[in-house]
This record gives sequence, C-alpha cells and structure tokens, in this order.
Amino acid sequence: MLHCGARIGVPVSGGNTVSEVVPVAEIAPVRWQPDRSRKVPAWPVPRVWQAMLRGAAGKCPACGETRLFRAFLKVNAKCAKCDAPLGLARADDAPPYFTILLVGHIIVPLMMVVERVWTPDLWVHTALWVPLSLIMTIGLLGPIKGMTVGVMTAMGMLTEAGPG
Ligand SMILES: [Zn+2]
Repeated sequence: MLHCGARIGVPVSGGNTVSEVVPVAEIAPVRWQPDRSRKVPAWPVPRVWQAMLRGAAGKCPACGETRLFRAFLKVNAKCAKCDAPLGLARADDAPPYFTILLVGHIIVPLMMVVERVWTPDLWVHTALWVPLSLIMTIGLLGPIKGMTVGVMTAMGMLTEAGPG
C-alpha cells in the first residue's frame, strides 16, 4: 500500500485490468480507537495510602472530612462534602476475604503456640479463640472495608461501569 493512495486493479472491457490510484480513505475502513482521554472526576482523588488511611478511619477517602459509613458496613451513597459517589464502590467480597486472611494468620499461630507451650484442655481453646476470632473479625471488617473503598476511590473505580 502506498503512503497516500493505493493501486488497485480496475477491470476494463476484455478482462484486463488497469492500475488506478485510489485515495486510502476510500479503501481502508475507519479503525476504531479507544477513548484515551483522561477523565478528571469532580471530587478530589487522593493517593492510595492516604485514601486507605482515611477509609480505615471511617472517613470519606476522597476528602477525609465526612463519614464513610451510614451504618456498620453500609457506605454512604455520596459524600456530603465533596460529592464523591462512594456508593458506587463495589467492594463485594474483598473486605471479608482480607479480614479472614488477617484474622486467620493471627489466631492460628497463637493457637498453635498456646497448644505447644501449655497444652490446655479443648474447652480452654474454645473459650479463648472463638470469642477472640469474633471480636477481631467484627472489629476489623469496618476498617478493612473502608480501606478497600479507599483504594477504589484512589484508583478511579467510582463509576457505574466499574474500573476502566
Ligand atoms: Zn468527601
């Protein structure tokens, strides 16, 4: 193909062809290009660590001035101060997953050490680790969900369509 046009065979009478220059625009289909323009949100976009710390503290990850949750784990639909659509952050299973991961990696080694050192009765283990696991899980779920929403805020995932 030429830079500004292409030679194509144009059939003429008698079965022969004659070369003719046809502009590329007439031959090549229009190629689809992704929209690479940067969309700047209307709310402040903090750094990831800052957003995580704000979220862990239960504050709006975008501005850090209002509350993130309206109930135990219910995220406010919109920040009253900066209008960040926090309700669009679909944290889904991420907060429980990280909570289980963290609590499990704290409780299980402690349980093994206690068993190895003191070898208590089974009821002692039950009375110790079940309440401790519940307290840690309930206590960490909120801050971890806040951190997850913070990461999503910092990474531009507060959209109807999700990331992208
Ligand atoms: Zn805010």
